Amino acid sequence: MQCERVRELLSPYLDGELSAEERRAVAAHLGECRSCSAQLSDFRRVGQTLAEAGGEPVPKALTARVRSNLDRAAHAEPTPISALIPKPLAGASSVRRGVLRQAAVIAAACVLSAVATWLATSNLAQQHRLEQDVLAAHVRSLLQDSPIQVASSDTHTVKPWFAGRIDFSPEVKDLASEGFPLVGGRLDYVGGRRVGAVVYKRRLHVVNVFMWPSGSAGDVAPRLMTRNGYNLLTWSRGGVDYWAVSDLNAGDLAQLQALL
Ligand SMILES: [Zn+2]
Repeated sequence: MQCERVRELLSPYLDGELSAEERRAVAAHLGECRSCSAQLSDFRRVGQTLAEAGGEPVPKALTARVRSNLDRAAHAEPTPISALIPKPLAGASSVRRGVLRQAAVIAAACVLSAVATWLATSNLAQQHRLEQDVLAAHVRSLLQDSPIQVASSDTHTVKPWFAGRIDFSPEVKDLASEGFPLVGGRLDYVGGRRVGAVVYKRRLHVVNVFMWPSGSAGDVAPRLMTRNGYNLLTWSRGGVDYWAVSDLNAGDLAQLQALL
């Protein structure tokens, strides 16, 4: 089997979509062609990087697009460029290397742009899901007889209550003197996981503060959203993601954020 044919078959080879005969032929070629097996490793690495970066499965269509971009770039015809180069140099291997390097750069750019687009879309969708979940959890808590499972204004009662119920113990503060008395705590389900909600009050308003270990390392400044008449404030600090939600006005919510 020729290199060109093998490279066309690398994607389906990785995806296990070849016939037994084609598989054997490709495998045999890979066993003795360093260039093709290097390309196979590249394909694998791209797939892995995408999967790790996203933390969720890479859409099949994207993987296919990235691979075909890589493939196209790898097969880019050097002729148009070599035609522009003075005759004595045209056939030189250094020109060919230069073209191949350029092709590799193009391929890398294609991969990066595809990854960036996909990450942005997927982060946006994830963010939107979180907003919905947080808001739903807040409203659900208000519909129940009580928004709390452990009723106490004592941080030494509320904090230990979470231990053993969830793997991450949320921070509980006594903010009564600042006008945000602690009411208690509750477990809820947000973003596909069990999380702790610490409940504070401001006059007659209930404030749910959800916390869980952050997905990213750095701190993120508070961001306010208004959804269905509720204010949602989210930020990250010290490896923890926070979401505060209430029908409280944005100014008071920001004041609570500064105290937490
Ligand atoms: Zn080959």
